[in-house]
Amino acid sequence: MTAVLAAVAFGSNLGDRAGQIEAALAGLAAHDGVEVLAASRCLETRPVGGPPQGDFLNGAVLLRTTLDPRELLELLHHLERRAGRVREGAVPNAPRPLDLDLLLHGESVLDEPGLTVPHPRMHTRAFVLDPLVEVAPSLVHPVLGATIEELHAALHEPPSDPVT
Ligand code: ADP
Ligand code: MG
Repeated sequence: MTAVLAAVAFGSNLGDRAGQIEAALAGLAAHDGVEVLAASRCLETRPVGGPPQGDFLNGAVLLRTTLDPRELLELLHHLERRAGRVREGAVPNAPRPLDLDLLLHGESVLDEPGLTVPHPRMHTRAFVLDPLVEVAPSLVHPVLGATIEELHAALHEPPSDPVT
């Protein structure tokens, strides 16, 4: 397929967090049909939900890719497994050595078993939008029709005063 811009979120809260993330970004960059255009800083964040666990390092990368969304998700799962992630039998939101989520893939809008794009929770999560706005502020969310910069601002806006 023709190349599109795609965004991937990464996170780790188990083991050598920075090392596992570095290896994953190298694995993405080394793959045919994937070019890493920009990687955000790693941000330290508190875990959301799940059992008590350590803090995450979270970030995001902007890619140019000729892989279709399913192929890119398979690559992300392969890199997660290579970092020691075991999905079978894990409770939801369990600590993980590596989590790679496909946020955006060009204009694709998909809701299939095992693959929803844009990622359904990306616009509600500071640990996704804070790093993503560093690397892709002008990327447009094809469902919400807003840029990452706008979604980031909306997430951090204080709630408006009630009209009396
Ligand atoms: P989470 O990232 O929400 O904590 P997991 O990493 O365990 O949870 O992923 C759960 C399932 O979500 C996976 O089986 C994967 O196939 C599915 N999934 C659906 N859409 C996406 C997406 N856009 N990116 C990553 N995984 C996705
Ligand atoms: Mg995931």
